[in-house]
Amino acid sequence: MGIIDTVSSALSSNAASDDGDDSRRNSEGAYWCDDCDVRVRDVAVDAEDLARDADGTPLCPDCGAAMRFERSHADGCAC
Ligand SMILES: [Zn+2]
Repeated sequence: MGIIDTVSSALSSNAASDDGDDSRRNSEGAYWCDDCDVRVRDVAVDAEDLARDADGTPLCPDCGAAMRFERSHADGCAC
């Protein structure tokens, strides 16, 4: 009984923390379409189900052009 309690609590806490931490830690920037002013974070490309070109660059969902990657320099400054 003690083992089951430990395993189930460990599993649930791992799943909860992994989700939030992974998406934040792996985000290195965002993809932009300058024409459409569309911005998609790199970690959201798969969730948004964007198409990619041969190089793996996401394509703008509005116009289909390859998007420009811009690294995020600091969190909390949007200037
Ligand atoms: Zn576009």
